Amino acid sequence: MKTAQERKAERATTTRQERFYPFTLRDQISAERGHIMNHTETKNVSWSEISAWCTCRQRWHWAYEVGIVPKRVERAPSVGSCGHVAIAALLRGEDWGAAVTAWLKRELEKKDMFDEEIQERQAVADLIRGIIPRYLKAYPDTFVPVLVEAKFEIPIRGMRARLIGYWDGIVKGRDGKLWLLEHKFPQQRFRSEEDLELDGQIGVYQYAAHRLGYPVVGTIYNQLMARLPAEPKLNKDGTVSRARVYTDWPAYREFLVKQGQDPADYREMENKLADFTFFQRSHVYRPLIEVRLFTRDMERRIWDMRSTHKHIYRSESFIVCGRCPYRELCLESVKGGDIEYIIKEQFEPKKSREEEINGNQQDPEGADPTTAGA
Ligand code: SF4
Repeated sequence: MKTAQERKAERATTTRQERFYPFTLRDQISAERGHIMNHTETKNVSWSEISAWCTCRQRWHWAYEVGIVPKRVERAPSVGSCGHVAIAALLRGEDWGAAVTAWLKRELEKKDMFDEEIQERQAVADLIRGIIPRYLKAYPDTFVPVLVEAKFEIPIRGMRARLIGYWDGIVKGRDGKLWLLEHKFPQQRFRSEEDLELDGQIGVYQYAAHRLGYPVVGTIYNQLMARLPAEPKLNKDGTVSRARVYTDWPAYREFLVKQGQDPADYREMENKLADFTFFQRSHVYRPLIEVRLFTRDMERRIWDMRSTHKHIYRSESFIVCGRCPYRELCLESVKGGDIEYIIKEQFEPKKSREEEINGNQQDPEGADPTTAGA
């Protein structure tokens, strides 16, 4: 058995991963797969890493200490990646349609594709071409852009580390004040106002803006549902079906007019469709005192995460585990099974955020594979 002094010496000369896996899992993977991220090489922290740490320390360990993520199945780029390109062009006063076309061209030039893959990418571009005009009708903006799609870095108090993140934009609102701007393209549901009140990332990104000389008063959080309204059915007599379909009143009314129907005859549909919304804008106002509280909270998380004396343990939430991309790895490791084999077959080295963005496939919705399902 090692003495306390020997253990101390070992801690000083080895990484946690090497101690945890004395058979040098890292070496083996490195040899077979090339470089694997070593967390001791970088002092930067992203919100994704903090989020992984808070969701499950074991998940953080797989992703940021061992440095592995599930192998990606080649898939179409997300609606968000195209949507952000369109919104950025809008903010800059450029032709957003041309920006979407250019995005599609870039995507199609990345590699040789099957027809199905080409169609998937075209479908994403078409969806955004359908969403943006409806969004502009819902919110005819009068923002003055100050920054669009900007990366930031701020030091973390008490550590030689920096928080890195990306702002969608900083704008001047109609009230003349500075606001952070966030755009999300959810597939299923909007985040509620309460969800946003508790969102630490919003607070911390606001703090970063203050630190870098942009005294923002809050965040304008725009959510654009990543789908288009369904078309109502036509009855045999030429009237429009009054059945509830996934659409909103403006789209339904437009369809009525197209079919030569009088919207006044269908007024009850306005209430019937009131639950279906495709856009939601929230103003998350945070005075500086609240922003500081969120920042202190973030600092504590980072201090814990970077502490040399931290403990790694698994989540107790079956909901979190049920959707975790490392589930199979954890199942095997608790049984003392062959995790090296699973890692070799099902995982790959985690890329840095820059590599993700420059490579492709990064989902600006934050669908980091390490936190997917969180
Ligand atoms: S399966 Fe559960 S315990 Fe294991 S990493 Fe995922 S969330 Fe954590």
